[in-house]
Amino acid sequence: MENNNSNRKSVLAVYEKDLDDLLQEYDIYDKLKEEGIECEVCKCKVTLKNLGFIVFIGKNLKVCCDNFDCYYKFLNERRKKLED
Ligand SMILES: [Zn+2]
Repeated sequence: MENNNSNRKSVLAVYEKDLDDLLQEYDIYDKLKEEGIECEVCKCKVTLKNLGFIVFIGKNLKVCCDNFDCYYKFLNERRKKLED
């Protein structure tokens, strides 16, 4: 158990580092840090603290908060659109 936990933490740390780089590359790091970006689903303000995930659809950036309901709704919406 101990081992699993520490492995998981290091994976997350790398992931977060990459995410920061990605956000900076797309010039949205400051926006997320300061004013926040609207969650695609619940319309709350997403900042670095509650960022669930980001996706690029074409040139459009979609942001989702870390609420699991939003996550599932977002995925369902995407799936519906892909099936159309
Ligand atoms: Zn949300």
